[in-house]
Amino acid sequence: MAKDYYEILGVPRDASQDDIKKAYRRLAREYHPDVNKEPGAEERFKEINEAYRVLGDPDTRRQYDELGHADFENSGFGGFGDFGDFGFGFEDLGDIFADMFFGRSSTRRDRRPRKGADLRMDLTLEFEEAAFGVEKTVEIQRTEICSHCHGNQAEPGTPLKTCPDCGGTGQVRSVQRTPFGQIQTSRVCSRCRGEGKIFETACKVCGGSGRVSASRKINVKIPAGVDDGTVVRVGGQGEAGSYGGPYGDLLVVVTVKPHPFFTRQGNDVICEVPISIVQAALGDEIEVPTLEGDLKMRIPEGTQSGKVFRMRGKGIADVRGFGRGDQLVKVRVVTPTKLNNKQKQLLREFAKAGGDTLPNETKSFLGKVRDAWR
Ligand SMILES: [Zn+2]
Ligand SMILES: [Zn+2]
Repeated sequence: MAKDYYEILGVPRDASQDDIKKAYRRLAREYHPDVNKEPGAEERFKEINEAYRVLGDPDTRRQYDELGHADFENSGFGGFGDFGDFGFGFEDLGDIFADMFFGRSSTRRDRRPRKGADLRMDLTLEFEEAAFGVEKTVEIQRTEICSHCHGNQAEPGTPLKTCPDCGGTGQVRSVQRTPFGQIQTSRVCSRCRGEGKIFETACKVCGGSGRVSASRKINVKIPAGVDDGTVVRVGGQGEAGSYGGPYGDLLVVVTVKPHPFFTRQGNDVICEVPISIVQAALGDEIEVPTLEGDLKMRIPEGTQSGKVFRMRGKGIADVRGFGRGDQLVKVRVVTPTKLNNKQKQLLREFAKAGGDTLPNETKSFLGKVRDAWR
């Protein structure tokens, strides 16, 4: 059907849902085959129903508006025109009934290609693997289309037979009693799933399900910079789709093992390095472990415990490619505990040489404490 659904119902594109419903009811009465015996009336009636099925539902209407007529039809929503016999008069047709009948349970919808479900798995990485990226082989169990019958369910080369439940129409009729009288509705046949045909001999490999469970080894490329909770999506490695739809995806959820001396904060790597009081006081060049091995770092004279130094660009690459973090080196000045007599003597001399036993910071700190108590 090439005609625009708005044209068929004779409403503007911005018509309200209410206006669409009114137009539909007016046209449906006018062209109902029980009422209108003119040639072409039945065809027109089908068009009207198809147009209303799409435009009458705000969700499908939105999709129709977005895709345009041709693409919408190709998407598997459209082309729905054959309702078969109704077995009731349209004069009795109430709104509720119209919604019920032209609502969501159409044949095409149930059979349109659907992408398979995504699979999810956890993967634990070493700190360095997360930082630099890694390629891992993982094993997954997934549902695949049977390669013997290609999902057709029948043993290849064996004939199909007409479905006995629906007589080959793919539809099962049922009669219901409603406040509007007895009505006949049709549903997709569950035995043949609307195909109209069933197999005589089930596929010997999949037992007629069209699917098999398979174990697969899959290479997963983990990009540099992933962190706890990062999800890496591997396209097409999930469960098989239905009605010719594509496979779902494999979602790999990353957990990163803690490192013995690195911790991570965003893309920065933090580590703590112990230094002696002599190094802190006089300054020194120390060796600092980084993700790329030990690097030299200069400590200035008079460095306090807890001071943080930044090594630019030595952190972790941003997973989205926005540069690289830094390494933050926190120095901890270690107070010696087991001094020999000579060392103790030298420290006493050191204190004397200063002419004063307390550093200025201590004096001003004590002064503040005394002020507070006053
Ligand atoms: Zn099979
Ligand atoms: Zn059937």
